[in-house]
Amino acid sequence: MVTVWTVRVLTLFPEMFPGPLGVSLAGKALENGVWALETVDIRGFARDKHRSVDDTPFGGGPGMVMRPDVLEAALVAAAGDPESPERGRVLYLSPRGRVLDRELVRELAAEPRVTLLCGRYEGVDERVIEAQRLEEVSLGDFVLSGGEPAALVLIDACVRLLPGVMGNAETAGEESFERGLLEYPHYTRPALWTDGRGQTRAVPEVLLSGHHEKVDAWRLAEAERITRARRPDLWSRYAEAHQAEWDRLAARRSRRRRNGKVDGGTGDTVRSGDKSEGQVS
Ligand code: SAH
Repeated sequence: MVTVWTVRVLTLFPEMFPGPLGVSLAGKALENGVWALETVDIRGFARDKHRSVDDTPFGGGPGMVMRPDVLEAALVAAAGDPESPERGRVLYLSPRGRVLDRELVRELAAEPRVTLLCGRYEGVDERVIEAQRLEEVSLGDFVLSGGEPAALVLIDACVRLLPGVMGNAETAGEESFERGLLEYPHYTRPALWTDGRGQTRAVPEVLLSGHHEKVDAWRLAEAERITRARRPDLWSRYAEAHQAEWDRLAARRSRRRRNGKVDGGTGDTVRSGDKSEGQVS
């Protein structure tokens, strides 16, 4: 049996889905049954005659809070009891959560099913987070008006990892974060391009050389340079992981120099973090 990655979204606005995920690669994959989307309208689980899903916060303050009884009923109907082994991971999109990153996206894409709760207003009653053992996941240190855009982002990131979604499977391996580095710069035709202000900009020579090893070495050096300049946090982790290898290479180079051999400089990557980041001209 083919497993279809299934995501259930609990929301007050089911009409927001699939939204942008209904087009392009994700949309095609959805149509082809590579993944499945189920939306659950939280309002359908309201109990009173006004179908209210929220109420004012105890202790006062602005805004409204989503009710725990309504959310529990929706969560149990959608995903099952928290004790059930088939329940899968149940996430609440929340600015207080673990920040979504590549590792978490990978984990979620590897699950057969994922359930996402989208908050609105001031958020949800704390007790339902505890009772339903919700994993809080954030997109970053900013506040959205609802969990839906965050859910769309999370789903998009997962779907592109599913087999058969990306046209060229190879591209995934080289992308930003895959090697702990940001990606190298891309160029396409024309090789010489005159921009709107009359400046002619060339593509780096090495990319036109047809010499794959040199191209790979250049790309790695560029990825390292950009990561070092822009993301010291990623760079220090990467440098730590590669220090031993760099030390070995440096030792080999100095041995060669001592023996009077000239370094051919073919395979070894240039550590070019000191170069300033600028335009190609
Ligand atoms: N009062 C809350 C913000 C509520 S915003 C606070 O200050 O923390 C309303 C809803 O938007 C939240 O319940 C959550 O589901 C969603 N949301 C807002 N910012 C988010 C973020 N950075 N990541 C993920 N979800 C977010």
